[in-house]
Amino acid sequence: RSKRDGKGAFHFFEPEMDVEMRERRALELELRSADFDRELELHYQPIISLRSGGLRGFEALVRWRNPRRGMVSPAEFIPLAEETGMIEAIGRWVLDEACRRAASWPDDLIIAVNASAVQFRQGQFAETIRVAIDMSGLDPSRLEIEITESVLLADTGANLALLQQLREIGVRVALDDFGTGYSSMSYLRRFPFSRLKIDRSFVRDIGSSRESMAIVRAIIGLGANLGIDTTAEGVETGAQLELLRQERCGEIQGFLFSPPVDSVGAARIIETYRNGESKVA
Ligand code: C2E
Ligand code: MG
Ligand code: MG
Ligand code: MG
Repeated sequence: RSKRDGKGAFHFFEPEMDVEMRERRALELELRSADFDRELELHYQPIISLRSGGLRGFEALVRWRNPRRGMVSPAEFIPLAEETGMIEAIGRWVLDEACRRAASWPDDLIIAVNASAVQFRQGQFAETIRVAIDMSGLDPSRLEIEITESVLLADTGANLALLQQLREIGVRVALDDFGTGYSSMSYLRRFPFSRLKIDRSFVRDIGSSRESMAIVRAIIGLGANLGIDTTAEGVETGAQLELLRQERCGEIQGFLFSPPVDSVGAARIIETYRNGESKVA
């Protein structure tokens, strides 16, 4: 490590932690000075309905093209943005861009946008959504906000109030990575979510693990009984697709159909489905 940063033997005695912290600090400064319009980019992953075989819409996934490092994964910079308060600005950029893009698509397609627990707790969230909707002219029912169960862990009263505000705006709310959180299921009774997204760790193992299969089946059943859609994420193989079909899973997302693609790729996918050349139908 001391050789790699080429500053001599001095660093040899520094704890590993310092190096990591300096690296984080460097990344933070780069994110802080980033021109979002140039360096951030949304990619879109198609969501396919298993009932109709049609295209339901896309999930927007943010990418950071760092001029020096290349593509930085959201798994890396979103947590950093959360810790440093930059998530509010990034979240606003993502919502504006996603709504603007979706407004240019056929109006039966939805756009799903991820929101982290930190974003959710910031006072401006509902207002940010309202502005993105107004500026883009997107019908609010075409916007779906994806939250994880961790959002609902603390402060139930305030969270419920915010969820109600979103509902009044007319946007949908989906529970992402469902099954991996710690909270109880009681919030399903108190708020009308539009969708449960089955975490891909369960989907990955449905063919080989009875437990994973049982959990997937239970979540699909829960969704059916609540009258809401269930989307399986991370579908990579035909075998997984067949099992999900047998279990009457409503919608799927995964590399089997398409990885997240840029806006040109999304437009191409929309064309393909318009022309009835879909793979699943
Ligand atoms: P997520 O919302 O659960 O998104 C699904 C992740 O799974 C995406 O990773 C996607 O590229 C990946 N994925 C999709 N299909 C497959 C598959 O078949 N196999 C495998 N192995 N992976 C698949 P990505 O784009 O790296 O995003 C990671 C996470 O970062 C997201 O998880 C989400 O929690 C967060 N994230 C992404 N964009 C945003 C954003 O704009 N705002 C916020 N707050 N978080 C975001
Ligand atoms: Mg998501
Ligand atoms: Mg997910
Ligand atoms: Mg996830």
